[in-house]
Amino acid sequence: MRVTLWGTRGSLATPGPETARYGGNTSCVGVIGREGTVLVLDAGTGIRRLAASLDASVRRVDVLLTHLHMDHIQGLGFFAPLYRPGVEVCIWGPASNRLTLRERLMRYLSPPLFPVCLRELPSTITLHEVPCGEVDIGEFRVASSLVCHPGPTVGYRIADGRGHVLTYLPDHEPALGPLRFPSLPRAWTSGGALAADADLLIHDSQYDGREYCSHVGWGHSSLTQALAFGTLSDVKHLVPFHHDPGHSDDDLDRLMGEAIEQARPAYRVTPGLEGATFEL
Ligand SMILES: [Zn+2]
Ligand SMILES: [Zn+2]
Repeated sequence: MRVTLWGTRGSLATPGPETARYGGNTSCVGVIGREGTVLVLDAGTGIRRLAASLDASVRRVDVLLTHLHMDHIQGLGFFAPLYRPGVEVCIWGPASNRLTLRERLMRYLSPPLFPVCLRELPSTITLHEVPCGEVDIGEFRVASSLVCHPGPTVGYRIADGRGHVLTYLPDHEPALGPLRFPSLPRAWTSGGALAADADLLIHDSQYDGREYCSHVGWGHSSLTQALAFGTLSDVKHLVPFHHDPGHSDDDLDRLMGEAIEQARPAYRVTPGLEGATFEL
């Protein structure tokens, strides 16, 4: 599979000269299988460029939403395949205790927040609620389960037929609860089963250590915690992701360098830069 980062920023789109390298678009990752299956992980503002990169012959796209915070759905209304008759768009995402996935999405895709209603879009749209166990989407087997983040939020584990595994946990606070992290075994840690032995883990790294201390319970990880989670999960490659809007490219270079130097992980780490591509 080919994995491309189209949006790496957390919370709020942050364009500008000081964020040009790591990118200003919010969470969106494209996954293209060898047989042509197209998955879109989250619909942040990066989804607009992802859509422009898709071959015109694509007839089905699956959009896998981790949750419905604005930074993960804001680009959905600007996703070109939704406006193409004859294209099937399957949207996967969590319901809440009170509202279905459709009702939750319609809150954004309806006036006054957006001029077009979900039901008016000309593509064929099907909605699927997660978590829902393991499902086959084209050539991929996709697992989802709830993870620690405010509101219903899932992470995804995507395996291809050749045994390669991508795990996507963009908004995740596995350190919430225990006094020390990590102190619990992998099986008792949020996201542990999703990330176990993954070839590539894309994981929340919003804060530095000091920032995390004043944001406990906000649903995100420090870069040091992301590195510890990677070790706990025995991943082969970590991509720190969902950068804080307040962190410039220079800040992120420094934070990545310091945290990696301190943790000395036994696996590869590649900072999450918008436009980066990984082959599994
Ligand atoms: Zn987010
Ligand atoms: Zn969130």
